[in-house]
Amino acid sequence: MNDLAKSDLRHLWHPFTQQQEWARDPMLIIDRAEGCWLVDVDGNRYIDGVSSLWTNVHGHRHPRLDAALRAQVDRVAHSTLLGLSHPPAIELAAQLSRLAPEGLQRVFFSDNGSTSVEIALKMAFQFHQQTGQTGRTRFASLRDAYHGDTLGAVSVGAIDLFHSIYRPLLFDALALPAPTTPGGTEEAEALARAMDLLEAHGHELAALVVEPLVQGAAGMKMHSEAFLRPLLERARELGVLLVADEVAVGFGRPGSMIATEQAAVAPDFLCLAKGLSAGYLPLAATLATERVYEAFLAEPDAYRQFFHGHTFTGNPLACAVALENLRLFEETDLLAHVRARSAQLSDLLGPLAGLPGVSGVRHRGVMVGIDLVAPDGTAYPSARRSGHRVAMAARPLGAVIRPLGDTIVLNPPLSIRANELARLVGITAAAIEAAA
Ligand code: PMP
Repeated sequence: MNDLAKSDLRHLWHPFTQQQEWARDPMLIIDRAEGCWLVDVDGNRYIDGVSSLWTNVHGHRHPRLDAALRAQVDRVAHSTLLGLSHPPAIELAAQLSRLAPEGLQRVFFSDNGSTSVEIALKMAFQFHQQTGQTGRTRFASLRDAYHGDTLGAVSVGAIDLFHSIYRPLLFDALALPAPTTPGGTEEAEALARAMDLLEAHGHELAALVVEPLVQGAAGMKMHSEAFLRPLLERARELGVLLVADEVAVGFGRPGSMIATEQAAVAPDFLCLAKGLSAGYLPLAATLATERVYEAFLAEPDAYRQFFHGHTFTGNPLACAVALENLRLFEETDLLAHVRARSAQLSDLLGPLAGLPGVSGVRHRGVMVGIDLVAPDGTAYPSARRSGHRVAMAARPLGAVIRPLGDTIVLNPPLSIRANELARLVGITAAAIEAAA
């Protein structure tokens, strides 16, 4: 074992990781990257099959993004938005309100997906408190939702495996049924039950929080517009604010820039992170409507302002890269490229559905979920670590992929080329066969 690996084992504590297993597995240490490829300290190359945790958009070390970052370093690396402003944040806020659904004009920056959700929750709660609807103190979200790791975001999350231990610390949220695959009777039944719960609890809800179209961390569970639209419309009629958590689905992954637009219902809050800075730097934004914003206006001594703000909120380096990200999106017509890759995935993934040990395959845009099962069709025991085994088997074949339980996730950089995507799916199929 080399010195770096030894030092990692001595000092680092990795996120979402059982360190005991980490110490047993071969360690992959990334030294550099280019385009869709990660390169380890020994010079081996791997396709970045999950775009460095669903963030990378135009590929690593894109010359235009690198140049935007360097240009901003030459001006100022960080200056606060508390009591001051700066051009990259001003310009980015204007650009985001332009690309967001109708009415979302106010941009509150933070630095990760969890905080963007936390901010929306607090704003929604405070909005109702300050507009005389003090009984609206609960939140609803979808079953198996994942909205981040801070305690408010965990409270509206509903993945027992991650969240149950923290239950005593959390506020009680209403979990609405949601399907695994779009369309079909499972979805229709989930919608009917979700609508009943909304009717019963609508009067006490501050907001409904959803990951539109794809519930990523739940295991790439998907629903259609036919599920989303009526749910959002009815919630709105009942006076419930709508929070679209587009941390994962925003910025092109499902084939649209903003996923909620496909449901044709504009939310009251839009949470963006991950792809916002093209996967370069920690940056998040919570967009709100003018109606919400106005409920916070008063003289300072009325104390109606939003008492929230992180040290690196709206960091200038991250905002400068995000602006260049948006320019590149347009100039390269990246959404058309994603739609072409999505059509290619429909062909590539077909044969995987027939592999022994695969019970389901679905994708929307470049977001892919492949469910594994034992040969007799039952779920694998969790101790077998089937998803993890497949991910480890993919590495010597030249791809970094990361499972969610026994669902294999592919979610590559949006700019991935046709031949790279074919190779990624080929390696995944081979790894599933090798690890079965
Ligand atoms: N919301 C969604 C839908 C996410 O997928 C994630 C992260 N995977 C988050 C929130 C939390 O983002 P972060 O990890 O940046 O805090």
